[in-house]
Amino acid sequence: MKYCFGPVPSRRLGLSLGVDILPAKTCNLSCIYCEIGRTTNFTCKRAAYLSTDSIKRELEGLIVKKNIQFDCLTFTASGEPTLHSDLGNLLLFARTLTSKPLVVLTNGTLIWMDEVREALCNADLVLPSLDAVRPRPFRRVNRPLTCIKPERVIEGIRRLRRETTGQIWVETLLVKGINDAPEDIRCLENALNAINPHRIQINTVVRPPAVPWARPLSLAELEQVRNILGKRAEIIASFKKNTNQACQSIEETRILEMLARRPLTLEDIANLTGADRQSLKLTMRGIKEKGLINTEHHGKKIFFTSLKKGTGNNR
Ligand code: SF4
Repeated sequence: MKYCFGPVPSRRLGLSLGVDILPAKTCNLSCIYCEIGRTTNFTCKRAAYLSTDSIKRELEGLIVKKNIQFDCLTFTASGEPTLHSDLGNLLLFARTLTSKPLVVLTNGTLIWMDEVREALCNADLVLPSLDAVRPRPFRRVNRPLTCIKPERVIEGIRRLRRETTGQIWVETLLVKGINDAPEDIRCLENALNAINPHRIQINTVVRPPAVPWARPLSLAELEQVRNILGKRAEIIASFKKNTNQACQSIEETRILEMLARRPLTLEDIANLTGADRQSLKLTMRGIKEKGLINTEHHGKKIFFTSLKKGTGNNR
């Protein structure tokens, strides 16, 4: 599979068949918490960075011919998926292949553009990010291209909420000492009231970040923020055991493919594969001894990471 990956366990979406529509790492932000590292192609230019026809062919092969099982089809990227100029076309095509929810993970920065909102109106669920409202914390946490301004991001998401029949879940990722000051949360609350999303999802640095000094908030601190943001707000829990049995066997290549997209704990991989922890431990040890993966400590968790850095998006 060149563009699609998984199905992979998602913290929010269940078993998600991912489709990665940009080459690594094409983005207009370089978030300090990004789990796929620093942005190498730093751009705001929308273009068909990967062949639309090739992506369609692969999707059709998997969904129609192979009849792969999944809970939702998630458009993501090794960067920001709205930078792909054919996103709307791809969503329309995907709709002809499946009735499962079509999801787009986005950093929200281009939603102010009419053509991007038009594309996103073809999705069932859009998950835009809004990490900070005040300019300084916005710059510190997201490290955007200079043309990107938080007020434009907010206005774009607000307009999409009015124009789409799909759901809008806004994610806010808080980094200790960067965008979690009381004033930041107050501004965020005002912005979210203006956007009026269906859900607000509060997150923190739970996977190895782009910079080692990006630190998570504690659960108690996240709960305080949730209380301020109100009933629609929830703390995104760690990935829970998925009951879908799409994957029964432990395949080394499949594990490597998953790890090339995002770091995973043993628990994550076990949940996806349905494998028992003991045999999985042996498998992972074997892969590590071959020099194909590494382990990285983050917080109290140990993540397996691919030595072939690559694709995927932690949003
Ligand atoms: S977290 Fe998403 S928006 Fe931020 S740099 Fe990584 S890919 Fe881009």
